[in-house]
Amino acid sequence: MSDYKVIDAGPALVVGAGLAGLFAALKFKVRPVTILAGSPIGSNASSAWAQGGIAAAMGDDDSPALHVADTIVAGAGIVDEAIARLVTEEAAARIEDLVQMGAPFDRDAQGRLVLGREAAHGRKRIVRVKGDQAGAAIMATLAAAVRAKDDIRVIDGLRATGLIMIDGRARGVWTRDAAGKRVAVVADAILFALGGSGGLFSVTTNPVTARGVGIAMAARAGAVIADPEFVQFHPTALDVGRDPAPLATEALRGEGATLINDAGIRFMLGAHPDAELAPRDIVARGIFREIKAGRRTFLDATKAVGDAFPERFPTVYASCIAAGIDPRIQPIPVAPAAHYHMGGIASDEHGRSAIPGLWVAGECAGTGLHGANRLASNSLLEAIVFGARTAADIDATPQGVRRFDLPEAPVGDAAEDARAMALLRHTMTANVGVERDAASLTAALADIMALRLADHGETVSAAADTALLIAAAAWTRQESRGGHFRSDFPEASDDWKRRTMTTLNAAEVIAAEALLGSVDRAA
Ligand SMILES: Cc1cc2nc3c(=O)[nH]c(=O)nc-3n(C[C@H](O)[C@H](O)[C@H](O)COP(=O)(O)OP(=O)(O)OC[C@H]3O[C@@H](n4cnc5c(N)ncnc54)[C@H](O)[C@@H]3O)c2cc1C
Repeated sequence: MSDYKVIDAGPALVVGAGLAGLFAALKFKVRPVTILAGSPIGSNASSAWAQGGIAAAMGDDDSPALHVADTIVAGAGIVDEAIARLVTEEAAARIEDLVQMGAPFDRDAQGRLVLGREAAHGRKRIVRVKGDQAGAAIMATLAAAVRAKDDIRVIDGLRATGLIMIDGRARGVWTRDAAGKRVAVVADAILFALGGSGGLFSVTTNPVTARGVGIAMAARAGAVIADPEFVQFHPTALDVGRDPAPLATEALRGEGATLINDAGIRFMLGAHPDAELAPRDIVARGIFREIKAGRRTFLDATKAVGDAFPERFPTVYASCIAAGIDPRIQPIPVAPAAHYHMGGIASDEHGRSAIPGLWVAGECAGTGLHGANRLASNSLLEAIVFGARTAADIDATPQGVRRFDLPEAPVGDAAEDARAMALLRHTMTANVGVERDAASLTAALADIMALRLADHGETVSAAADTALLIAAAAWTRQESRGGHFRSDFPEASDDWKRRTMTTLNAAEVIAAEALLGSVDRAA
């Protein structure tokens, strides 16, 4: 047996400490709960960076049915309607849970929640905190609540690298400590709340650790992966040379900020009837094409927000000022950035994956709520609804027996080859980005398969596996839908009006087919 430390996490192990993980941990009845936080709580979690807020049909003129309808339109024909119904119906109760936990949502003079409007929402339904502070405020509230519980144990600084599978069941996770030493953490039930995959792209709004590691770990153990090709590119990341790119929240466009190019032309007026408030993929492509044509693009909030900017959007204001831009009087340079992964580990209405013993919640899950494109502010909602649902399902699942022999630790190098990771991120943005085609996707698959052949360290290897799943599914889907735009197949096709369900083995076969096809054509 290899030499590694073993930690018994007890009945439930939550891997990841973003909104999905913390909310689930607080909802469990089974105790103790262990949270494995790769980084200290709140850091490296997209949840803490969310600016817009959480969507919930709570206005007098609103209903879950209207929220479902908007979700379906945004999702471009492949939203799982049953999932959308249950998420929107449970939204108000989960917001109430957050209120009870102490989340300081904005309220009006009568004490009612203030509801904001965002792109592609037919009603005002976004609960917020001080304009753009929702993520930071909610995460601070939940982190304090978790720390106050004696029966929730947080282990900081162990990075998960793989699933421990015994007799076809997930029994724990392999991790590395700060010194690179391996630690096995075992539990009866495992909940992945590992966040998104935006960090696989060189231009992203996500934390650097959001590299789809949950998808890679689950896929290697045989899980089904849903809709990996659907990545949402946020249209308005600040184009100021920072990695990750700071975000200029959608709410700014909701407030009336306009998109202009360096000739001062409002280019979205000709691109969509809703102009700046069109669905994200359309706005992202509008900006992408301006940039491709050699023009710079700006978000102009000088008239719509002006002097109120520091007070109403303090986070964006601070990012602008740090970059030498005063958004009260200057347009903000913007560009599209990988922002949200609609795809993830396929899961059912309880958050169960295809692997016994493994539940999933939050952005790493593929519930079908978002279809081909996420409606703004539906992701924090999904994180709390499925955080609660997975906790309830694990509570209701008979406890397993934690007496088993652990397998040999996997081989792999803890050190990351930074050049290999940079190459992977570059090829993802250049070839699997806002606009894709067969040639660019084949080029990406060639890069990814070459990276997988050499040993560049286990973080690169996991990132390459998730990248392979994304690029292979994008190569296969010969149409455009939602966040997936193929310039060689620019229309949606009814033949493709279905979700993708794939595996790592299937992605490898697709890559071989794509690469052999390109060799045949060259011969
Ligand atoms: C800038 C920005 C703004 C956004 N604004 C909004 C918004 O207004 N409304 C909305 O609904 N959505 C928004 N989103 C999307 C939303 O924030 C995310 O989808 C959501 O927070 C995901 O929550 P999560 O708990 O799944 O993941 P995260 O909050 O990303 O948490 C993932 C956790 O996993 C941990 N982790 C990662 N790798 C490992 C590892 N190997 N081992 C152990 N732990 C690991 C991380 O440290 C982190 O604790 C925004 C996203 C970004 C990036």
